[in-house]
Amino acid sequence: MRLILDDYFVHRLGTRLVESKRIVIICHVNPDGDALGSGLGLWHLFRRMGFDAHFVVPNGFANSLAWMPGAKSIINFDRQGDWAREIIATADLRFFVDFNTNQRMGKELAEYIEKLPKATTVLVDHHPMPDQYDFVISDTSVSSTCELLHSLMNRMEWLLWLDKDGATCLYLGIMTDTGGFRHNCGNPITFFTVAELITKEVDVLEVQDRVNNRQKEQQLRLLGYCLSEKMVIVPELGYGYIVIDSEEKKRFQYEKGDVEGFVNMPLAVKGIFFAALFMAGDGDIKCSFRSSNEWDVNRFAREGFNGGGHSMAAGGRFTDKTLEQAVEFFVQQVENHRDELRQLALKLQAED
Ligand code: 5GP
Ligand code: MN
Repeated sequence: MRLILDDYFVHRLGTRLVESKRIVIICHVNPDGDALGSGLGLWHLFRRMGFDAHFVVPNGFANSLAWMPGAKSIINFDRQGDWAREIIATADLRFFVDFNTNQRMGKELAEYIEKLPKATTVLVDHHPMPDQYDFVISDTSVSSTCELLHSLMNRMEWLLWLDKDGATCLYLGIMTDTGGFRHNCGNPITFFTVAELITKEVDVLEVQDRVNNRQKEQQLRLLGYCLSEKMVIVPELGYGYIVIDSEEKKRFQYEKGDVEGFVNMPLAVKGIFFAALFMAGDGDIKCSFRSSNEWDVNRFAREGFNGGGHSMAAGGRFTDKTLEQAVEFFVQQVENHRDELRQLALKLQAED
């Protein structure tokens, strides 16, 4: 069921917006295309509407997204802490996009915000079980936060102010969160939304070209190496995973965003419906999970990986385990679910 915003909600949010003096928009740590698309899409809209709006990201993002219209105006909390703090502290309206709990902004930013005097908070998100905010626009059935934002703009009658730049950012978020329209896009509304965005002259070929065809040679070689040397496939339980250690990151001159999409690779193998990626980070181990059927990776990530996400895409992290320990723990957790996974693997085989 798609979210319906009643007239009273629309009136209250519209009034609150008009009364605001300064708006800050904040997304989750390690922002992806949907987080940046949502933040920038809203930022362009509010600027066009004449508001004093700012977009703060907790930390840096992939180079493949740095070309996005408005990206140069983004305030990076990690690098421009004082400026970001001032903007956040002086904003009377805070929009949170593409996350369901303040913890997803990262510890430092979340703690800073929680100590500030209260301001009006608005959450726009598509993850399950959102925390409490003054206004919550949350729907797990939509493809992306960008699609949900477009619905919100439509309902609020703000779409008139969405220009080509804002529409391009929203389009990018929908495109990347559906893996280039390969998953989570079974609802026709996703495509009606895209059609409406294209009427605002979004250049869809340019967006896909800039996101996908500007990779570094080393990035593609790392993918090739992972596929040929590192991918573990366990057909009887329908899962596969890839582990990337620090030495390999160095060898392939790893930069943020270089392994985007790698976690999906095992899913392309026939009979595999559960995929994982483990990578050594700076002082932590990053875990990513994907599913292509009813196997719920959000539950799996919450159970033992200090994380969460959606039923089909989730993540987590460890600060108290080595990479080897994290992978060992993963294999153990999978073993604990052996019967469930075996049933699903057999079901998939039978359907084939
Ligand atoms: P990715 O694997 O691309 O890092 O993340 C996939 C999805 O999992 C994201 O859209 C996000 O919703 C969720 N996710 C990733 N890492 C974490 C985490 O540490 N905590 C929570 N709660 N969700 C995460
Ligand atoms: Mn998203």
